[in-house]
Amino acid sequence: MKFVSTRNKTEKKSFSDALIKGLSDDGGLFVPDEFPIFTHVDMDKLCEMSYFERAEYILSRFSEFPVGKIVEKGYEGSFEEDEPAPLLKLDDGLFILELFHGPTLAFKDLALRLLPGLIAAAKAQAGDKTRSLVLTATSGDTGKAAMDAFADADGIDVMVFYPYGGVSKAQELQMTTQEGANVSAVAVRGNFDDCQRAVKDAMNDRSFVEELKKQGYSVCSANSINIGRLLPQIVYYFSAYADMLSAGEVKKGGKVNFAVPTGNFGNILAGYYAKKMGLPVNMLICASNENNVLTDFFATGEYNANRELKKTISPSMDILVSSNLERLLFELCGRDDGRIRELFDALKGKGVYKISEDGRKKTAEDFFAWCADEEVTKSTIQAFFDEYDYLLDPHTATAIAAREKYCGMTHDKAPTVVVATAHPYKFAPAVYEAVMDIDEPDAFRAAAELEDISAVEIPAQISGLKSKKKLHNTVIEKAKIKDTIIEFLRSKK
Ligand SMILES: *Cc1c(COP(=O)(O)O)cnc(C)c1O
Repeated sequence: MKFVSTRNKTEKKSFSDALIKGLSDDGGLFVPDEFPIFTHVDMDKLCEMSYFERAEYILSRFSEFPVGKIVEKGYEGSFEEDEPAPLLKLDDGLFILELFHGPTLAFKDLALRLLPGLIAAAKAQAGDKTRSLVLTATSGDTGKAAMDAFADADGIDVMVFYPYGGVSKAQELQMTTQEGANVSAVAVRGNFDDCQRAVKDAMNDRSFVEELKKQGYSVCSANSINIGRLLPQIVYYFSAYADMLSAGEVKKGGKVNFAVPTGNFGNILAGYYAKKMGLPVNMLICASNENNVLTDFFATGEYNANRELKKTISPSMDILVSSNLERLLFELCGRDDGRIRELFDALKGKGVYKISEDGRKKTAEDFFAWCADEEVTKSTIQAFFDEYDYLLDPHTATAIAAREKYCGMTHDKAPTVVVATAHPYKFAPAVYEAVMDIDEPDAFRAAAELEDISAVEIPAQISGLKSKKKLHNTVIEKAKIKDTIIEFLRSKK
């Protein structure tokens, strides 16, 4: 399978090259040159497989190197009961796909556990002997998942940039206590968009990249701008469907909806790719928090990032520039790379772009978008706990709220799978406050209270944070990101 840039589709790259580069030189994102189609026969096979086998089966369609060992090494022993994506039925037509049973308790683990192996294999394939510097902007969960997955990996260093004061306490501690001589977390005085922009800028800055090259480094990214992040996420959409088929919850070819808490548009885009590959998806429900730039985009066709970023109780979705929307637009405009260049020049210059009304109408065939404000998010957590004894994390709660809105508006009878992106105890104070109306700002005490009232035990990944030593203390101005990178590399000599 070849890959092309959203801003230049003539130049075709191998999976290895796309993985190693992360971002195309023209600033565009790599996308599959075409989508492999999965038939009923494939689906029958998937039904018989374990999750690991499903991952190998699907990723093999995109990769020129074998991926079975990479999946095994990345996943084995990392998820509760070796089950990365258990599907739970909560009610008629309501399913929860729990993607938070990995080492860092967020869905990012499903992709990031595979990235070290994928990058190592891609470099071997390309004969690339440089050391990799993996730059990562994070709104909270990617950072820890990357540090955990890459800790002590050969030939790779990882730097993570997160918004100072913009992540939950548990998320921050997870990152700042991470061990491994090759990983580093840096707090940036700014928001996620600042971090993401700086990382993209660094990767696109020729002289900076040259400078790193002189030191023996090539730069790549662990963000979902990297195609290696995106493809493993396609697997759980197929996996959920296969589980529903096997359980008789859906008939062959019967449609299902997926509701996805959305920030950088990576997770939901993987669902859209699954649909393009033949998965019977009816609607993709795009849930946002008060940073509802995507909700507005789907309603009006205008993407306008010129607004104040709000801090919410779902910090991993506190994003105004959703990078992966570029990949969706590329498909919507019939892979017109010139049009994509125009749109993203406009975004860079004015912070806004608008697609045609026809284009907007086309999005409505695949996407329903809704946003939950803070009050709705909290009341959803509370109501859901009352009704099902189930603790939602604040991100997942926005998707539950969006699903309710969708069902109310459309009377669609297709079952909906809500993609649960994080463990509730990563955001214990917010969840506890939502359920009990009691303020408990201490993350550990709030988790203990939640454990008392629910059937959910505190995961060792959370309780263990209390006694861990803080190893990463750096706080920088956003203009200093490149200097900090150089310093980090120097410190390793
Ligand atoms: C990253 C993240 C999201 C947003 O996912 P995108 O792929 O960026 O849209 C939602 N919820 C949680 C818990 C996350 O960590």
